[in-house]
Amino acid sequence: MTIASILVVEDEVKVARAVKEGLEAEGYQVALARNGEEGFRAAAGPFDLIVLDLMLPGCDGIEVLKRIRAGGSAIPVLVLTARDTIEDRVEGLDAGADDYLIKPFAFPELIARIRALLRRGRADAALRLRLADLELDRVDRTVVRGSVPIDLTPREFDLLEYLLRHQHALVSREMIAREVWREPNRGTPLDNVIDVHIARLRRKVDQDCAVKLIHTVRGVGFILGEDEP
Ligand code: CA
Repeated sequence: MTIASILVVEDEVKVARAVKEGLEAEGYQVALARNGEEGFRAAAGPFDLIVLDLMLPGCDGIEVLKRIRAGGSAIPVLVLTARDTIEDRVEGLDAGADDYLIKPFAFPELIARIRALLRRGRADAALRLRLADLELDRVDRTVVRGSVPIDLTPREFDLLEYLLRHQHALVSREMIAREVWREPNRGTPLDNVIDVHIARLRRKVDQDCAVKLIHTVRGVGFILGEDEP
């Protein structure tokens, strides 16, 4: 396996240095950018993942993230934020973050999130996606739970595939609207459509099963996983 290369965009010198040294000790290649402009320019490089602080002088992290996504890049981005409110988290996810971590964070937590995102990146190429006894075959476009086939509409299939790709992570309605419905503008009608599809998917996937896989996080979105969030 090649060594993963990570761009860290962080203006606080002490934090940046600590993160760089810690990641290098874990075997990653690390480049630093000290502000938003520098981060945006550097993001065009051959990185596998970006760790992006939201509070940056000048062009802030959200702006950097929006510009990276506007350029068509799907690189995994882990956002660091000191602002622990649901609104800010949703703002980060809306702008295209794959995950976020609240400052101050424990270093092992940062490593765990980075590993999960890098794994997920590799899973993009996988033909079969699995969670517990749920399995989705992307070639045959079939889904089974245990040994029971599940009949899904094309949209339900795409939605489940998206959730499986992002399993154990919080997925907002905005992410689903953008990535599954290909609808960049958030709208209440679409929120309702998404909720209806989630409800149907839940009935088909989780009904009659002891372990529920589709969980709602009130006011934020959904998590696919074996455990209650
Ligand atoms: Ca900062």
